Amino acid sequence: MPEQTNPFAIARQQLHAVADKLKLSAAMIGFLSEPEALHVFTVPFARDDGRIEVVTGIRAQHSFARGPAKGGIRFHPDVTIDEVKALSMWMTWKCAVVDIPYGGGKGGLVIDYKALSQGEKERLTRAFARRLTKVIGPDFDIPAPDVNTGPQEMMWIADEYGHFVGHPEPAVITGKPVDCGGSLGRGSATGRGLVFCVERYFENHGMSLKGKTVAVQGFGNAGQYAARLIAGLGASVVAISDSQGGVFHDKGISVGAAIDHKTRTGQVAGLDGRAISNAELLELDVDILIPAALENQITGSNAGRVKARLIAEAANGPTTPEADQILFARGVTVIPDILANAGGVTVSYFEWVQNRQRYYWTEEDVNSRLREIMRRSLDQVERMAAEHKCHWREAAYLLAVARVAGALRVTRDL
Ligand code: NAD
Repeated sequence: MPEQTNPFAIARQQLHAVADKLKLSAAMIGFLSEPEALHVFTVPFARDDGRIEVVTGIRAQHSFARGPAKGGIRFHPDVTIDEVKALSMWMTWKCAVVDIPYGGGKGGLVIDYKALSQGEKERLTRAFARRLTKVIGPDFDIPAPDVNTGPQEMMWIADEYGHFVGHPEPAVITGKPVDCGGSLGRGSATGRGLVFCVERYFENHGMSLKGKTVAVQGFGNAGQYAARLIAGLGASVVAISDSQGGVFHDKGISVGAAIDHKTRTGQVAGLDGRAISNAELLELDVDILIPAALENQITGSNAGRVKARLIAEAANGPTTPEADQILFARGVTVIPDILANAGGVTVSYFEWVQNRQRYYWTEEDVNSRLREIMRRSLDQVERMAAEHKCHWREAAYLLAVARVAGALRVTRDL
């Protein structure tokens, strides 16, 4: 894979880009440039026709400097070791930005999971879980859902882990159903965390969200909650989209009606308003743009035409490094993914805390603690950006890498 598109090469470049400013030693850079541990497993499972198939399972634990590793597990045919290593490093920075006591982890199975029957899914996930049991644990590494995995897969893994240790241990994994130890508020956490960031940004700049226009690309979990909650603060969501295209209405779109429509028809197309493409949505004359779909949406070729003054990244990696420079030069603020979408991992952390306490919080408790963390983190990143006269992504990296390196200096003398 060429260096420009290899996610692990990109992750290392991002680390090296802040290493000088932080005066990291060569040993520190070397240590942070690789996961502390990488596990690659053969995972055999029985197909419905009786054949045994062997697939590759991966778990990367990038850092234990600030606590156990934390991060999702994705099941996808394109999963690679380098992708998992990169995602584990990004999780380290995300946890550090919001200052929760975890390092980063990530895992994957190289499989076209969606094509499997329910029985095959269960046998495969349990087989992978039996490999994972030896390298995960509530004090060591706590997986969570990611692409193509959800509460069901998390429960199969928790069940296998419980058999392995001889007792139920819900804190080994997050993203569980609420009835099995999941946290209230996890479903809305990513969108909610993002909106807390945007609200704080407007407050810090002496502005109100009332009447501000918003475009949201991607209308799944993160995009729907972000749209609903920002509209609840008085902003006007004028454009939304999904993989099949988008819709624009200058008078504002009723987010509740749009969610109903999307749930009923599987798409946003057909809502009242003008049909637009995803490319058009990104360039609309709005105050706030929320990319909540895929990576690499705002690039060197369209960043010059983005009119929003604030971009809040719900998706992971929607803005390329080249676009970052263009937007910064044009005075557009980007609240970067590792901050803007960290509400998800923060409420996963709350789930783990509640599991360990065997004491469960109300949804109001969850949301108010999330609010406090997102607002404080936004303030810290904003201050860092002002101090270093850099864009917010660099500021977030400076903050995160400094925290992890600080912990390592104390424990490992790097
Ligand atoms: P989702 O699958 O629920 O929704 C994704 C949405 O994007 C869907 O509406 C889909 O139609 C749309 N989409 C797909 N391709 C598109 C395209 N080419 N153009 C426009 N829209 C397109 O996923 P999600 O959980 O909302 O995640 C969205 C992004 O947020 C991902 O990058 C994910 O990694 C990130 N994220 C999510 C969470 C979370 O807790 N859900 C946490 C952190 C980061």
